[in-house]
Amino acid sequence: MSSPPTDPQAQVQELRRQLQSLLEAATANERKLDRFDALERRLMAVGSMEELVHLLLIDCCADFGLDAAELWLLDPEEELRRALPALPMVKAPRLLDHHGPLKDLFGAARSTRLVGPADAPLLAKAFGEGTPVRSAALLPLIRQGLLIGSLHFGAHDPERYDAASGTKFLDRLAAIAAIAIESMLNRERLRRAGMTDGLTGVHNRRYFDHRSLIEFSQAVRHRYPLACLFLDIDHFKAINDGHGHPTGDEVLRQVGGLIQRSLRTGDLAARYGGEEFVVLLPRTDLAGACEVAERIRLMVQDAPFVTPEGGTVNATLSAGLAMLPAGATSFAELLNAADRALYDAKRAGRNRTVADSLGAAQAADS
Ligand code: GH3
Ligand code: MG
Ligand code: MG
Repeated sequence: MSSPPTDPQAQVQELRRQLQSLLEAATANERKLDRFDALERRLMAVGSMEELVHLLLIDCCADFGLDAAELWLLDPEEELRRALPALPMVKAPRLLDHHGPLKDLFGAARSTRLVGPADAPLLAKAFGEGTPVRSAALLPLIRQGLLIGSLHFGAHDPERYDAASGTKFLDRLAAIAAIAIESMLNRERLRRAGMTDGLTGVHNRRYFDHRSLIEFSQAVRHRYPLACLFLDIDHFKAINDGHGHPTGDEVLRQVGGLIQRSLRTGDLAARYGGEEFVVLLPRTDLAGACEVAERIRLMVQDAPFVTPEGGTVNATLSAGLAMLPAGATSFAELLNAADRALYDAKRAGRNRTVADSLGAAQAADS
């Protein structure tokens, strides 16, 4: 350590220098606080999952001059795994199906970690093998005492994050990011619950009523065919009566899954009521729609449905099919025509597909 100057003029100069550096530090801190403040406001106001991820992974790097950012989110139920592919994201978070990787980073401490170049293995864990990141801040995201993920900020500069520095700003940012993530997940869950049937996982009637009107008017406007399938499980009451309601539920759930898996993106399947499903196939002609209906029917006929007790039951379904263009001037008419065809399929002996005769005839002419 150098001893303080004895010459009074040199002492004044030294004090001035110290004051200047304190002022600069204070100004830098104030600027940092402003940037954190602006980020927190934006975090609280985000409206979608993709906006939130963009803010944490892209905007943070730009605003704070970082070289890398990573977001890890715990997703044991695979909710995010299902939701994220549909979202347009420049950079996706890493989804974890168990706590292991988070434990590796934070151990039991669960507090912000500032990592320097000496801990290369930890940097490799947080940013991947061969990362050029030489120092980093690892922020645990905690909600209601549970670790829900982590946010990693990295720099090529080995001195950017120093283990001896304070972490007050970062701790606060982590707390707010965790709240924003949790509320976004809850909003996403609610949105999905509002349009999904809880038992079968296909869309519910409410969503179908809304979407079907849009599909119908688009098909009319752009003059493309729209096929409507009404599917009803045969003698379902007998399955309930013979094997119990839980087995009936299980059959419904598995039939819902089979229907969903036999459709293309752009098709729409919904549980219309009890053991009835409805499917809309835009841009599909009569032959194509018959093929889809028969594929579903045969898959159901051939499937051993696993019961909650581990046994199996068999089931069949009947399908009624109606087409636009053909007579229907409203969606209700198209749906009624499919329902009539379903009734005919039941009357003709069940486990079959019947196309609405008027629709089929006109579709064949057109
Ligand atoms: P059909 O071949 O003529 O369609 O005969 P069905 O027995 O399938 O038709 P019906 O309308 O007589 O019976 C439908 C049954 O579906 C009656 C109802 O209790 C049952 N059901 C409706 N919703 C559910 C459900 O969520 N779970 C279970 N397990 N059963 C349900
Ligand atoms: Mg029915
Ligand atoms: Mg039935």
